[in-house]
Amino acid sequence: MGNSPVNDCLVVGAGFAGASVARALADAGRQIRLVDKRTHIAGNAYDEYDAHGVLVHRYGPHIFHTNGERIFQWLSRFTGWRPYEHRVLGVVDGKSYPFPINRDTLNQLYGLDLDEAGAQSFFEQVREPRDQIRTSEDVVLNSVGRDLYEKFFLNYTRKQWGLEPSALKAGVAARIPTRTNSDDRYFTDTFQAMPSHGYARMFENMLDHPNISVETGVDFLDIRNSHRCRHVVYTGPVDAFYDHRFGHLPYRSLRFEHEHLPEVARFQQVGTVNYPNDHAYTRITEFKHLTGQEHPGTSIVREYPRAEGDPYYPIPSDANEALYKRYEALALSEPDVTFVGRLAQYRYYNMDQVVGAALTAAKRLLER
Ligand code: FAD
Ligand code: UDP
Repeated sequence: MGNSPVNDCLVVGAGFAGASVARALADAGRQIRLVDKRTHIAGNAYDEYDAHGVLVHRYGPHIFHTNGERIFQWLSRFTGWRPYEHRVLGVVDGKSYPFPINRDTLNQLYGLDLDEAGAQSFFEQVREPRDQIRTSEDVVLNSVGRDLYEKFFLNYTRKQWGLEPSALKAGVAARIPTRTNSDDRYFTDTFQAMPSHGYARMFENMLDHPNISVETGVDFLDIRNSHRCRHVVYTGPVDAFYDHRFGHLPYRSLRFEHEHLPEVARFQQVGTVNYPNDHAYTRITEFKHLTGQEHPGTSIVREYPRAEGDPYYPIPSDANEALYKRYEALALSEPDVTFVGRLAQYRYYNMDQVVGAALTAAKRLLER
């Protein structure tokens, strides 16, 4: 890349991946054209005020957490933060329990009075040790045994993915820790916070740069033969880039059912309540917990997993990863295209990991 009348780089997608690459390249003097087929920036992290004035996340709850100080500092250029530690309850047989499973979950569920050492030996007694941890079923049975697996994990996972835990790679369930103490936070990262004025505002600041032009409502597939950029950074689904030539790479989708409850100041005790065994939805999130907003009413969202619809999650199974490898081989052989992000790399990335991958990709491009 270098100075040129045409844009140096076309970035496809205005989510964390695309926006971070765009800003890093723009800061280094490159001219960036950024397009997104949606009508807004911020990708799946997009938030907005609903018709009742409550700040909600259109594509489901997004809680920022990271151990990467560099990533947190980089994003801090574009937003202030509101400290927020997420808490989740899991409903089993009509009662709510701390989730991830900790000592209090055991005590409340089984009517026990275990201390930390007691919780440790409880898990030792009930766990089903596995020599090899290959699947999500192995992960959970190996750490908490069958009863807790069936109460908290089995049906949630079937609902979320449409697959048995034994068909999913270990990494999916390994996102959830098991604790012997009473820590009831969902995440234990060093940095846990929400952007003070929301994600969309943070993205506006990130993209507010004289070297970046942003076009929403533009599909890359419509301009791929006519744009005049030297390099493309693509953050959409990798199989779509190649017209699905090896077949469709499965992505899991969700339907979000948003609801406003007037005159209900607080709907539930914590930010998210999981329903492993009841309902067609997996969880309900109440946004005011996340954002700290004060409002006489409240807004919630229910997540209904489905196969069709916008791609939200790569589905980590052996077969899908084998198919992805075929696309990745094509992607790696493209000198003029960089693939980065959750959809383009088919990785179950959190937001901070996407930023990390994007900043690394930008650095490599600048070193060329
Ligand atoms: P995306 O945000 O998907 O952005 C890709 C963009 O590319 C999209 O805007 C899309 O419209 C655009 N695009 C695709 N194809 C084209 C095309 N052909 N032309 C133009 N534009 C195109 N992470 C966390 O860290 N914490 C959380 O609490 C959390 N909660 C989540 C909850 C849900 C329900 C979901 C689905 C994800 C959650 N995540 C969370 C993950 C987080 O959303 C992702 O890590 C992150 O948003 C991915 O950023 P991205 O830029 O890779 O992809
Ligand atoms: N999971 C579960 N029961 C729960 C919560 C999570 O079985 O109550 C499993 C499920 O397979 C889920 C995975 O753990 O997909 C990861 O959960 P996480 O909350 O990290 O999912 P995300 O927020 O990414 O949807």
